[in-house]
Amino acid sequence: PQRPYIVGNWKMHGTRAMLSEARAIDRAAQRLMKVEVAIAPPYTLIHPIHREAEQIAVGAQDCHEKEGGAHTGDISASMVADAGGKFVILGHSERRQDHREGNPLIRAKAESALAVGLRVIMCCGESEETRDAGDAVAFVTKQLKASLPPEIENPTELLAVAYEPVWAIGTGKTAQPSDIEEMHAAIRALLIKLYGEEHGEEVRILYGGSVKPENAAEIFAASNVGGALVGGASLTADSFMGIALAA
Ligand code: 13P
Repeated sequence: PQRPYIVGNWKMHGTRAMLSEARAIDRAAQRLMKVEVAIAPPYTLIHPIHREAEQIAVGAQDCHEKEGGAHTGDISASMVADAGGKFVILGHSERRQDHREGNPLIRAKAESALAVGLRVIMCCGESEETRDAGDAVAFVTKQLKASLPPEIENPTELLAVAYEPVWAIGTGKTAQPSDIEEMHAAIRALLIKLYGEEHGEEVRILYGGSVKPENAAEIFAASNVGGALVGGASLTADSFMGIALAA
């Protein structure tokens, strides 16, 4: 099995003043080699962090689906890679909501990221309404199937999936370990169906949504949890590495 994968999603937080925090995360990660630590800062900090980091990987929170062209304000996957990015988070619920990104667009973005060798962290998750209606597993597996590229050369290396229930993001509410296990088992089954047993078993499935040092151990103990995608608690080295230590 692969190492636990702990990824910080800084969202729209971080100016150069945050570089000291990235340095502290990098130093701590050097003492924690059994865990793979990465951060996705805003685009503007990808290269500055990449230049200094010795241990952690840096990535982006999105990319455009095209290689280049007349798309004012957008950033392509090759630009992310050129800045030193190694991965891209795609399909985050905040992009699905704020920018009305749908599954076909997200799949196109994933194809363009993979084409330049970036790893894709593909997000999925249901709303509170969908969970209350008892439809969470069906919704998430359908969403994920429609967002993932049907063919990936080396899914074990180039893909991770992040299950982030929308109602648990930034709310302090986390899913019950039994609910995480149920969802991650369904995602595992889909990955095996799509990519075969060898890769499907190995792709890491991260949990995201109000992960903190205090609840991380319980979440990591659940089956099929290969790491975490962390928002708020990734903004300080102390809390982020507290989570990594629990992995
Ligand atoms: P929080 O950890 O702040 O709940 O955010 C989770 C998330 O959306 C990570 O991508």
